[in-house]
Amino acid sequence: MKKIAILGATGSIGTQTLEVISQYPDMFELYAITGNDNWQLLAQQARQYQPEVVCVANESNYLPLKEALSDMPVKVYAGMESIAQMVQMSTIDMVVTAMVGYAGLLPTIKAIEAGKDIALANKETLVVAGELICELADKYKVKILPVDSEHSAIFQCLTGEQLNPIEKIYLTASGGPFRTFSYEELKHVTAAQALRHPNWTMGAKITIDSASMMNKGFEVIEAKWLFGLNAQQIEVLVHPQSIVHSMVQFADGAVKAQLGTPDMRLPILYALTYPRRMQTNYERVDFLKISSLTFEAPDTKRFRNLAFAFEAMERGGNAPCVLNAANEVVVKAFLQGKIGFLQMSDIIEDTMQQTEFLSSPSYEDYVQCDAMARRMAQQLIEK
Ligand code: NAD
Ligand code: MG
Repeated sequence: MKKIAILGATGSIGTQTLEVISQYPDMFELYAITGNDNWQLLAQQARQYQPEVVCVANESNYLPLKEALSDMPVKVYAGMESIAQMVQMSTIDMVVTAMVGYAGLLPTIKAIEAGKDIALANKETLVVAGELICELADKYKVKILPVDSEHSAIFQCLTGEQLNPIEKIYLTASGGPFRTFSYEELKHVTAAQALRHPNWTMGAKITIDSASMMNKGFEVIEAKWLFGLNAQQIEVLVHPQSIVHSMVQFADGAVKAQLGTPDMRLPILYALTYPRRMQTNYERVDFLKISSLTFEAPDTKRFRNLAFAFEAMERGGNAPCVLNAANEVVVKAFLQGKIGFLQMSDIIEDTMQQTEFLSSPSYEDYVQCDAMARRMAQQLIEK
């Protein structure tokens, strides 16, 4: 039995992870779940799935959560510090990092330091501090198993290829809801439009990141760290059907791809059971119903974030941390209707230009740099 902790259990990946775990009761035991704002759902999940520990990041939700679970034997904690401690408990084998944003960094570090394998959905952790995370994973001999569908696809293609270096990877992107919009049209799109993703149902932040292509930029950086690649080895391909989840090209020119219907439960399950494949009843690809699989180059003139991500990756150091912090601030402002869609990229660019470069940041440097970039982006929004 693998004992699992799910950070961000109330979100899109978190709820799907709970569903997956409950379908294989002989394989998994749920040890802990965490949430942030939606303590009602967290309480309901605790009742349904009976973990031993529940932790809510937002401390102001501690009392109502505790009260709601007062008739249950479950332990209830609150605050980020508690989450960072909880992941180190000896009873946990694997931590699923399904919380959104920079908040995932500290608990991921703590979990790795305690020797827990990581099923990583929280890509922001690798964007902000990929070098540090990879060093720690090496040092503590933990596996980082990708949950992101593209990275899971690449990971699946690499199984059995340990001795064969990667020539390059093709990271596929749906292109999001604005793939065919002109630059002029992008000026006027709303958050409500951006939240309607054509192929995937996800949390609000990653849905906006998908519409702005920042998600793909983050995934490029994520791939660099997970698979040890450089910028020239990573090519983004817009593939609107979201059937080919990504591909690997080897030295002999052979290309391996992983295909499937857009369903996150499969990459979640694979990360939890690797290297085993389990029986599932998930929808199968019906090749005769797919009229075509198409691929096009991304347009970094309309979707500048993708170019910023490549730039930040090549600069290294704290540049991707700044990129992430500025992005979190502008996405929030866009969702609140305070800035337009294209302004998000403008503010990210200005923030990146105005922050001091650090070539080999420590954890403390990342914390400071994140805070500083957030302040700067916020000031630019209010200007
Ligand atoms: P979501 O918004 O649906 O859920 C986010 C979860 O994080 C919630 O449980 C929330 O309570 C928790 N959370 C939010 N802020 C927090 C904070 N400050 N401290 C602690 N916990 C906090 O997001 P999601 O779509 O499930 O995405 C989660 C992560 O997985 C993101 O990093 C995203 O990029 C990645 N991811 C998601 C998908 C997807 O299909 N949804 C696919 C690939 C990768
Ligand atoms: Mg993805």
